Formats: sequence, structure tokens, C-alpha cells
Amino acid sequence: MKSLGSIRRDFAPWNDPNAKPYIQFDKVTKKFGDFTAVNNLSLTIFEREFFALLGASGCGKSTLLRMLAGFEEPSAGRILLDGQDLRGIPPYKRPVNMMFQSYALFPHMTVEKNIAFGLKQEGMPGADVEKRVAEMLKLVKLEQFAKRKPHQLSGGQRQRVALARSVAKRPKVLLLDEPLGALDKKLREETQFELMDLQQELGLTFVVVTHDQEEAMTMADRIAIMDKGEVMQVATPAEIYEAPASRFVAHFVGNVNMFEGKVAEHTTSTTRITGATGAQIVVDNGSNAAAGSDIVFAIRPEKIRVSSKKPADAVNALEGEIYDVAYLGDMTVYHIKLDDGQIVRASALNASRVTEDPLTWNDRAWVSFRPDAGVVLAR
Ligand code: ATP
Repeated sequence: MKSLGSIRRDFAPWNDPNAKPYIQFDKVTKKFGDFTAVNNLSLTIFEREFFALLGASGCGKSTLLRMLAGFEEPSAGRILLDGQDLRGIPPYKRPVNMMFQSYALFPHMTVEKNIAFGLKQEGMPGADVEKRVAEMLKLVKLEQFAKRKPHQLSGGQRQRVALARSVAKRPKVLLLDEPLGALDKKLREETQFELMDLQQELGLTFVVVTHDQEEAMTMADRIAIMDKGEVMQVATPAEIYEAPASRFVAHFVGNVNMFEGKVAEHTTSTTRITGATGAQIVVDNGSNAAAGSDIVFAIRPEKIRVSSKKPADAVNALEGEIYDVAYLGDMTVYHIKLDDGQIVRASALNASRVTEDPLTWNDRAWVSFRPDAGVVLAR
């Protein structure tokens, strides 16, 4: 079965025309003075979705989250939650909670008191608070740390307390702004999986803001790529990576090779592209670009094969010279300087311990790829 869909196979409400949107940004604009931080943006998020807003610093993703939480109001447009317009509703009355980073914990309170704090403030009876706190401690696997204070915990444990505290009130939507920013790489990875498990277990809708593409790719059902206050593409991680809608998105996520060129001709099943420097490339998915139009052919490094001889069956093969080699253990990355001058990046998985076709600096080499290995981008 070929798929570019979601990881959770039975969860794809965005493909269901009858599915009811849960969170809707409807032509939302946010201006600070004469600076536009969010520009006429529309976006739909579904119940139980793990949704990521991904973009470079300053693209407006936190502003979007803060408007959903109620800390800011849109300058124009509407934000709806379960069909209700949120305008004018103060943050504490919205069924939305924001998870702050672990340094926002009360340092003088124990773990359990930190988790209980919001519940008590809400006036929940003592016995219920105790029960809920116990549930939360179990959920984040911190039962034996209940009596400790934040400074007696590791960074990851503190993060879990912050998480328990933010879901204790059972919000319908949890907003997370760079939730793992303070953790080191290994702990980040572990915590990403914990967050996903927790989201599944609680059946909540998560909206996470991150500038880390790997984090968004790992956790999210869908990702919105943002730039300068606008959404560039909303899609599953696999679609974003394999079928980016534009050069911007292709560049933003992962490594990519771009061949500038023109559509030379369409046949019934393939499109022939002439590269700006003469390379001929045949693809089987370029029919949406008009013949004669300027396009870019984008192809990921792992879809390119490098070999010392031209593969007999290759539809696309370009010749050049090995310019750089980096052995990374799990894979080897090659930079090949094609005879037309373009540098191509290719990566080969080191699936066995020895290589059949060793290539090194200045060797003549061929790069080859299948007609379905890349995408044609008109914009
Ligand atoms: P980062 O990853 O750096 O947090 P971001 O994508 O979350 O970036 P935002 O915090 O949403 O970015 O900010 C978007 C733009 O709006 C930035 O240029 C920022 O300087 C500006 N901005 C945000 N809040 C205010 C404010 N209260 N007053 C003026 N400008 C603001």
C-alpha cells in the first residue's frame, strides 16, 4: 500500500468533508502598531488532533497561540472553538490551557502541591483534588516524587510536573509553546514520545508551537508551516516532506536538491524537464506545470543513488565528480559536482558494514533517481 497519509492510520478528519472543525482561525489578522504579525490567516484544527505550528523565529506562531489562549485579541477575523466565537472571553473562561516551561513551577512547593495549585484555586473540594493529583502523578510516572521540590528533580522530571499541572484541570485544548526547549537532545526525544502517549491517553487536542522541524515531524498529526504571519502549507509530516507545495516549504523541512529548469514536454504519463544547465530529467508527477513554464525539480538526498558506473536501468542519470564525502555512521553523505557545475547532495544508508562500491574524493560518479523520486514545483 502506498501512502502519504498520517501515521495514525484511522485518524484523518481533515480528509472527511463531514468532519466538524474544532478550532477555526477565520481570516485572522493581528497587528502590533503598524506591524502585521499574523496576516489574514485561516486554519482549521480537529478534535483530538496533535497540531504543530512550525516556523522561523518571528513568523507569528506564538502570537497565534496567544490569541487562542485569550492573552491577545485578533485585530480582525474570528477564532472559533467548537463553533463558539471566542472574542471577549477571558483566558480563564476558555476550555484551553497553556503549558509553560518547567521554570514556571513554584520552587517552594512540592510536586503534588504544584499540581494541586490550580485545582484548589478553582475551588475543587479537597478529596477530589487529592484524587486528581494522584491520577496526574501516575499519568506522568512521578508517583514516588510527589513530596520533592522542583530543584530536587531532573529537567525531564520537572517538565513532566509542568505537564501534569497543565492537564490537571482537564482542559479540552492544551497549548504548548516550545514545550521541550529547555531539555537536551536525548531527553527531548524521550519526552516527545511521552507527550504523544499522553495526548492519546487523555484524548485532548494539542496545539504545539515549535521552530524545531524534527520535533514537529515526530509528534504532529499535521503541521502548519508559517512564514511572515501566513500559512504556507498545512499537511501531514509525510506530505510536507514528500510533497511540499512550494520551494519555501521544501527548503524549510529537511535537505533538498533543487534543479531550476523548464517543462520541455508532457507525454501521457511523464514530464520531461530541461534543467537550466542542460540536464534532462524525466518525472511522472509534473503534469500540473504547463509546458514551457519555469519550474524547480526538488529531490531529497536519500532518493538519489550514487554509483561509479551508470546504472543500466536508470531513467535519470547525471554524471559528475565526488566533491565531498562525510561518513556519519548510519549513513554516508556525498556532495557530487555535476559536469554542468551543480552540486548535488545524496545520502546512502549504510545498511551493511562494508560498501560494495566505495567512492571517494575526485572519483567520477553517477547520480541516478527514479521518475517518482522528486516533485515539480511551480512556485
Ligand atoms: P519565536 O519563535 O521567536 O517566539 P514566533 O514565531 O513565535 O517567534 P511571535 O512571538 O508570534 O513570533 O511574534 C511575531 C512578530 O510579532 C515578531 O516580529 C514580534 O516581534 C512581533 N510581536 C509579538 N508580540 C508583540 C508585541 N506585544 N508588540 C509588538 N510586536 C510584537
